[in-house]
Amino acid sequence: MHDDLLHEQLNYYRARAAEYDESLQSVGDPGAAESAEAREWQEAVRALRGLGPQGRVLELAGGTGIWTEELARIAGELTVLDGAPEMLALNRAKLGDARITYQTADLFAWEPTERYDLVFFAFWLSHVPPERLDAFLDNVERAVAPGGRVFVVDEPAGGSEVSGPNAAGMYQQRTLRDGRAFSIVKVYYDPTEIGRQLEQRGFAPSAIGGGAHFFHLSSQRR
Ligand code: SAM
Repeated sequence: MHDDLLHEQLNYYRARAAEYDESLQSVGDPGAAESAEAREWQEAVRALRGLGPQGRVLELAGGTGIWTEELARIAGELTVLDGAPEMLALNRAKLGDARITYQTADLFAWEPTERYDLVFFAFWLSHVPPERLDAFLDNVERAVAPGGRVFVVDEPAGGSEVSGPNAAGMYQQRTLRDGRAFSIVKVYYDPTEIGRQLEQRGFAPSAIGGGAHFFHLSSQRR
């Protein structure tokens, strides 16, 4: 996979930041019409809240803050990392929480230097190409303190493909309101397989929930 595509993917999200929230369906809205999507989303929210108070929390690819808001409820200290400064500016403006530290970083070049009690990422895993998955999960392992936890939310393989079908199992074309088109990575991973790969890295068997639209996976590092 060429670095150009990963660069284009990040440029897409930088350009999309201002229209990101509006372009999402309102599945995360507790008042949204009852649907399988809304139920699965809320199930992920409940599972995350169910972790209870956490110490140091790291959110990867936090975007405009849809999940940052949830993490801020349970985190003692929260760091949010994203490659798009435009996303982080919106996140900061929306949450206005001085307890949150924001860091602009390219996750394909990122190397964790600290350890966290909880490492969380939503709708990021599916943007990691298969040949970068091992290196990414190795970094996740390094970032989670012993006894700490990883929590993942995304769309599953063989599901409803809420974000649309992909080509060759790993690409999508996305178009912004102004007509600009971008190629991005979109891989629907099997959460059971991700859990297995985490086990190989010293995590306990994962608790996996969700359905055809969204999965959530939670696993504790031994
Ligand atoms: N987690 C947020 C959510 O659930 O709404 C955002 C998910 S959005 C689908 C993907 C995020 O990945 C965007 O915020 C984008 O800026 C970020 N991103 C894309 N490429 C990146 C990279 N190379 N390094 C870090 N973040 C990146």
